[in-house]
Amino acid sequence: MKYDRVYNFSAGPAMMPEPVLEEIRDEMLNYRGSGMSVMEMSHRSAVFQQIVDEAEADLRELMNIPDNYEVLFIQGGATLQFAAIPWNLMKNGKAVYIETGAWSKKAIQEAKKYGEVIVAASSADKNYSYIPDCSDLDIPEDADYVYICENETIHGVTWQTLPNTKGHILVSDQSSMFLSQPCNVSDYGMIYAGVQKNVGPAGMVVAIIRKDLIREDLDPKMPIYMRYDIQRDNGSMYNTPNCWAIYCCGKVFKYLKSIGGLEAMHKINVEKAKVIYDFLDSSEMFKGTVEPEFRSLMNIPFVTESAELDAEVVKATKAAGYDNLKGHKSVGGLRASVYNAMPKEGAEALVGFLKEFEANYGK
Ligand SMILES: *Cc1c(COP(=O)(O)O)cnc(C)c1O
Repeated sequence: MKYDRVYNFSAGPAMMPEPVLEEIRDEMLNYRGSGMSVMEMSHRSAVFQQIVDEAEADLRELMNIPDNYEVLFIQGGATLQFAAIPWNLMKNGKAVYIETGAWSKKAIQEAKKYGEVIVAASSADKNYSYIPDCSDLDIPEDADYVYICENETIHGVTWQTLPNTKGHILVSDQSSMFLSQPCNVSDYGMIYAGVQKNVGPAGMVVAIIRKDLIREDLDPKMPIYMRYDIQRDNGSMYNTPNCWAIYCCGKVFKYLKSIGGLEAMHKINVEKAKVIYDFLDSSEMFKGTVEPEFRSLMNIPFVTESAELDAEVVKATKAAGYDNLKGHKSVGGLRASVYNAMPKEGAEALVGFLKEFEANYGK
């Protein structure tokens, strides 16, 4: 591989497209004749304002975001939004959450501090290896929203059909699938994503919120930074934003446009994940942990027959240049995260290695 890089299967922070890293490198010391690096630039400068404006415009184009949605770049991870969402969106103090894995569970725990949380469906009974049927949920009339984590990064399950919210707004954590496939924004009240999984460097969330849901009659004790109305009124620059992340994400948005947008990206992601799933389905030694119809295209957990062998495989893959394949501690086993920036060759190379490992094992 060029630059001696490894195939990095990390769940996040994760790989970024190499052409983007090269562009960032080339602009590192002097951004387009400004005489300074983007890291050194005032966020109030015209040159930086253009970076933000272009990032938003490119994202709007990529996702076809309707005009009645606000796009916000907010510092902090998705974890901060676990609190910001109920605080901003709970008007009646009640919301429905669907529990499908570690990240929705954390969101539930945080939301409970602010209001009544109704867990209308859960897949905890089978260690979050499927998405429960959400076609006919019991949703109270006065629930403020229905919340899902659309791709569970740790458990590797993904929603194929969105829940029937019965007219309530849908809030979705898309952190580990953001921009991996086309998305009909109008199906949601709010979409948000920590960018370090599928887009750029850590430290920022992109939030896409229907304008009429942004309230001003909020708890006066609420930290001002967390208020969506304040972020909106200040163009995501009430205070110093994560300038660097906005810049890098903007580059990734342009890159995705250049390769044909989200349809093209999705096609690549489907082919890439298939390489690994086909292998898992045919292997005697390795098997996937998720029910096939709910398998994530981004995060692929798998196991061998024992924790000892899992650890041995992780060690062998690392030595061979396939990094970060250890599964999350709550699930064990292995996990290959194959986000947008992982080339299909990376998935093929990994499968080649695992096949050989299996063939030679015990010989
Ligand atoms: C990583 C992740 C989070 C947490 O993101 P932080 O930026 O670390 O707060 C939340 N939700 C999902 C789906 C994630 O993958």
